[in-house]
Amino acid sequence: TEKFKGKTALITGGSRGIGAAIAKRLAAEGAAVAFTYASSASKADEVVKAIEAAGGRALAIKSDAAEASEVVQAVAETIKAFGSIDILVNNAAYLAVAPLNEFKLEDFDRSVAINVRGVFVASQEAAKHMTEGGRIITIGSTNAERMPFVGGGVYAMTKAAIVGLTKGLSRDLGPRGITVNNVQPGPIDTDMNPESGPFAESLKALMALPRYGHADEVAAMVSYIAGPEAAFVTGASLMIDGGFSA
Ligand code: NDP
Repeated sequence: TEKFKGKTALITGGSRGIGAAIAKRLAAEGAAVAFTYASSASKADEVVKAIEAAGGRALAIKSDAAEASEVVQAVAETIKAFGSIDILVNNAAYLAVAPLNEFKLEDFDRSVAINVRGVFVASQEAAKHMTEGGRIITIGSTNAERMPFVGGGVYAMTKAAIVGLTKGLSRDLGPRGITVNNVQPGPIDTDMNPESGPFAESLKALMALPRYGHADEVAAMVSYIAGPEAAFVTGASLMIDGGFSA
């Protein structure tokens, strides 16, 4: 479709999982799509090829979300390739789970560096270049509101931080007609949280809809928030979690 014709999107962590689904969806709807990855160059290449085979435009950028200079560089490369940045999707994240006694401080620091600091840096840099109608969307988590297991406190903390950051940045950017929102998925079948994994049954037991979500379902919500129909949605945290937090 032509929904995002003339628009450019940058998605962090687009080589696999939810980020790859978002990249494909926005490209299918007409956006030129740049996305970052940390290490999976071949997976990133597959996403580019899939988008191009469907007639879209895509660029993969190696950029570690934990390194501010690399995040700033990814924004610059996006603009260099496609001429603008209209939509930023902060999707890359780090999940470390360990009981309190065993939780490593380096995992605390890495979680904050990628899930919070990286989101801030990308948003700050992208916003400099955005015009009226710009969109900043972060993939948070239902765990911002409900963390029913041992060992997930730091992950939940980083996703709760996004709730506040989203509210605050919406105030900074509202006067320029740029919206800032947070999409909070529940269990989604990806490498990070496979439906065949050891946590799956206990997660499903907590849900109103006892199944895993699909990355495409999250991409559909992101497409709505990124589009012109969502111009009045800002500062919001939107659940897409099968009732995990209900
Ligand atoms: P995956 O682990 O399946 O994919 C993560 C993607 O992010 C990959 O493309 C990976 O690239 C990239 N990435 C990881 N670390 C970095 C980094 N430091 N810099 C740049 N890119 C990086 O994750 P999901 O798709 O499951 O998760 C995506 C988002 O959704 C995250 O924010 C996560 O917290 C959130 N979420 C996921 C849920 C789930 O159940 N799956 C539930 C709720 C929220 P590479 O291959 O190169 O490492």
